[in-house]
Amino acid sequence: MIGLKRVTFKTFRFYSTSKPFDLVVVGGGPGGYVAAIKAAQLGLNTACVEKRGTLGGTCLNVGCIPSKALLHNSHLFHIAKHEFNDRGIDCANVAPNLLKMMKHKEKSVEGLTKGIEMLFKKNKVEYFKGIGSFISKNQIQVNDNNGKNNILDAKNILIATGSEPISIPNIKIDEKTIVTSTGALSLSEIPKKMVVIGGGVIGLELGSVWSRLGAEVTVVEFLGNIGGSAMDLQASTAFQKILTKQGMNFKLGAKVTGVATSKQGAKVNDTEHIVSIDDGKNKSQLHANVVLVAVGRRSFTDKLGLEKAGVQVDDKGRVKIDKHFKTNIPNIYAIGDVVAGPMLAHKAEEEGIAVAEQLAGGYGHVNYEAIPSVIYTHPEVAWVGKTEEEVKKSGVKYLTGQFPFLANSRAKTNADSEGFIKVITDAETDKLLGVHIIGPNAGEMIAEAVLGLEYGASSEDIARTCHAHPTLSEALKEACLTVHGLKKAIHC
Ligand SMILES: Cc1cc2nc3c(=O)[nH]c(=O)nc-3n(C[C@H](O)[C@H](O)[C@H](O)COP(=O)(O)OP(=O)(O)OC[C@H]3O[C@@H](n4cnc5c(N)ncnc54)[C@H](O)[C@@H]3O)c2cc1C
Repeated sequence: MIGLKRVTFKTFRFYSTSKPFDLVVVGGGPGGYVAAIKAAQLGLNTACVEKRGTLGGTCLNVGCIPSKALLHNSHLFHIAKHEFNDRGIDCANVAPNLLKMMKHKEKSVEGLTKGIEMLFKKNKVEYFKGIGSFISKNQIQVNDNNGKNNILDAKNILIATGSEPISIPNIKIDEKTIVTSTGALSLSEIPKKMVVIGGGVIGLELGSVWSRLGAEVTVVEFLGNIGGSAMDLQASTAFQKILTKQGMNFKLGAKVTGVATSKQGAKVNDTEHIVSIDDGKNKSQLHANVVLVAVGRRSFTDKLGLEKAGVQVDDKGRVKIDKHFKTNIPNIYAIGDVVAGPMLAHKAEEEGIAVAEQLAGGYGHVNYEAIPSVIYTHPEVAWVGKTEEEVKKSGVKYLTGQFPFLANSRAKTNADSEGFIKVITDAETDKLLGVHIIGPNAGEMIAEAVLGLEYGASSEDIARTCHAHPTLSEALKEACLTVHGLKKAIHC
């Protein structure tokens, strides 16, 4: 720790840094920890404050990573139970072992969060465990909950305090049987019946996990389609059909008006909730052992003391920034879930790097037109750029091309051929405007489309690029072949 000097203040022991840090990052999630590492790599004297006790934020602790551990293993269970025999693998009595599955998830989380601590050491980022709050625009106090406080002097401060789940009125979350995503990642039993309130990415992923493990899952969504408004409507409709075939139930255009507990037991399946629904025409009820509330997240700035530094927030409580991630106070920046924009780990990371580069070299940039989104169900759904609805609304003349995985040799050989790739291009220039994939490995395949958008590629550029055979990625080439001058795919 660089030269700390002791200062007495009432009952607390305070330590103040004798030399100010170039950058103090508050929040050790993907936005904050990546910014801290990059800033240190670029030569800035950097500290990161995290209150959770482990680094990695929502993403590593209660978000992306634990959900993907459960998604992957529940998928393996599902195919072992339902598909292995047809694939020539005899295996009787396949059963989920929830305790072991949870342990596997915890091991993944632990390994990755500890890995970041090591990266901090390697890159010489000072790590302060505790709640960080502003004392002034150049000072962060870190309270470690043991009565020990540090005051960190900082030339620049980065707010990366992330987000927290929101609920809806009249529903009391207990994280046991009425849960947010955090509780849904650690259920002690596979529920017989589960109601998911919210058909967005998190609700669909976690609903999918428990459905594969044997729960009867019903998703109640206020909008008329699943996946949220950022998802292409054609993709959303096809995706819902696939999930329905897998056994998930959907009530769209319906609002949950309340959850009453009719039976409270010690175990998950001894508990019963009644979920009241109103679709505008009819009122109905659903029974559930577990209710997952997945209706969105809000920026988290509790106990941060923004007012002491004079930092402004918008009407939704998000820290206000300009296009250079600067708040209204010139040496204070903010990134990630705590500011406006898609709540995605990779978006937070890109913003963190841009801030570090600005501080060290004067320039940093994020291309918001090329940020991919992925839903890690099976098949996966991934997209980048504009939806067809958005392009239509913008008035730009456009073309679309499409190729089904049913005509892709690798997908067919793998007996995993549901879904398609849809490409949207500018009708005059052939420039890619959006790519939407439903299919196996869509989350990996979208990277090629992201690169295409980043470099301003046309569909012809991708169609004329050699793709390895037999791969799923050939489907993107073929989808591009169906657009514009080239007109026709080879295999469809
Ligand atoms: C179930 C689930 C699944 C998800 N899956 C994906 C996915 O697959 N892909 C994807 O891109 N995104 C996913 N997300 C979203 C992703 O987790 C977030 O977008 C991402 O974590 C945001 O990063 P961040 O650094 O802005 O904030 P966070 O990750 O929320 O980190 C902020 C950190 O700041 C700390 N903090 C807050 N206040 C203080 C304070 N005053 N002092 C010190 N520390 C403080 C918090 O403890 C937290 O650790 C998922 C989210 C959930 C809930």
